[in-house]
Amino acid sequence: MINYLYQKSPIFVQNLVCTYKGLKEKNSRFGEGFQEYYDFLLKTQWYTRSQIEEYQISRIRKLVKYVYENVPYYNELFKSEKLLPSDINTLLDLNKIPVLTKEIVRNRYRDLINPKYNKPVVKAHTSGSTGKALNFLFSKDAIKYRWALWFRHRERFGIVPHDAYATFTGLVAVPINQKNPPFWRENYAMKQTIFTMHHISSGKIESIVNRLNQGGFAYYSGYPSILFSLATLIEAYDLKITASPKVIFTGAEALLDNQRKIISRVFNCLVTDQYGFSEGAGNASRCEHDLFHEDYEYGILECNNEKQNGIYKTGEILGTGFTNLAMPFIRYKIGDTATWVDKKCVCGRRSKTIFKIEGRNEDYVITPEGNKILRFDYIFKRAVNIQEAQIVQCKLGEITIRIVKRPTYSNHDENNLLNEVAKKVSPSLKVKFEYLSEIERENTGKYRSVRSYVK
Ligand SMILES: [Zn+2]
Repeated sequence: MINYLYQKSPIFVQNLVCTYKGLKEKNSRFGEGFQEYYDFLLKTQWYTRSQIEEYQISRIRKLVKYVYENVPYYNELFKSEKLLPSDINTLLDLNKIPVLTKEIVRNRYRDLINPKYNKPVVKAHTSGSTGKALNFLFSKDAIKYRWALWFRHRERFGIVPHDAYATFTGLVAVPINQKNPPFWRENYAMKQTIFTMHHISSGKIESIVNRLNQGGFAYYSGYPSILFSLATLIEAYDLKITASPKVIFTGAEALLDNQRKIISRVFNCLVTDQYGFSEGAGNASRCEHDLFHEDYEYGILECNNEKQNGIYKTGEILGTGFTNLAMPFIRYKIGDTATWVDKKCVCGRRSKTIFKIEGRNEDYVITPEGNKILRFDYIFKRAVNIQEAQIVQCKLGEITIRIVKRPTYSNHDENNLLNEVAKKVSPSLKVKFEYLSEIERENTGKYRSVRSYVK
């Protein structure tokens, strides 16, 4: 009903509704506590290696003692493992605590809630690749801490809290059936201009570019897939961005190399991202030199079942969050993998560095050779005649490439893709093609480059 009324309202009313919601959001991000966390984080990112270790050990000891005394699940777990909080004295000692899986979070939801936490909380959830929702509680205080962390990342690129920005997400701020501009809405409370993915299309691109070229945006933020669609349309229509933002931050989906290159080229600015997940049990943010640094003040990202290769080690990410005391997650298996690199980053920050992150709850294809393939962007590197693509696997031994063609697409492109798959993915994988006018998004607006229905 509220949505219906919103859609029928005049645009200035819709802007006021966006601003009203913006006021609430502004308070949840920047309210009491934010500034203190932000100032602290700007300072601690320059801690030495030994200061960082000391900090993490002291946080983990406190956390373990706290959950043992307050959270039923951990109390029971420690007892059944014959563990005491005093057994956890180093970061390596964390290994003694069993891994927390999503299944456990679902089954033991009530016991994971801290009954003694009496400050405000919000109910949050994540959908994950299987579509099965995972519910959890998040403290309002931890939300502010997380925003302070995200703004520390932005600060590395010259952005300060309260800078004006444009967003490109799945949020339907502009009614889908609207035919005439403006194809954006204003949240005056946060100096945010909201663009909606449904309106990033050929008939509307010129008006969107004109709005962007009015300038005034310090940065853009959004899903990489949406910014990529926007960038490719701008190029296809031979339009120019004359008022570039300082930087573009992407989130929610993994940023693919190819997307990054084209977004950066079209908007003539740097594109960066950080790694986080809704459950908030850890985070890593890129520095100016492009490595991810563990945001060690917020939590620990461990490498589980690691494979070492020189200075690199690859393994599953386990997250232990320090800030969400309403429902603390310790050694939580997110379902993503990462490659850590043991080297001193030239930026001068000494927290652990991550070279590459894969997964983000993405689906993967299984080849007849038994390999799991998460990324396919490299087979599309030269496919300039494709507007958008998605790989779908419904049964073993076969994939379907769904394609939204550009007018210049021909059989030649199909053959090229077949060659690329045979060469770079698997010589025996059967490939089918399906042509669509658009690729369906998830309910949240997220775009999945790989979809697997193989159980
Ligand atoms: Zn660095």
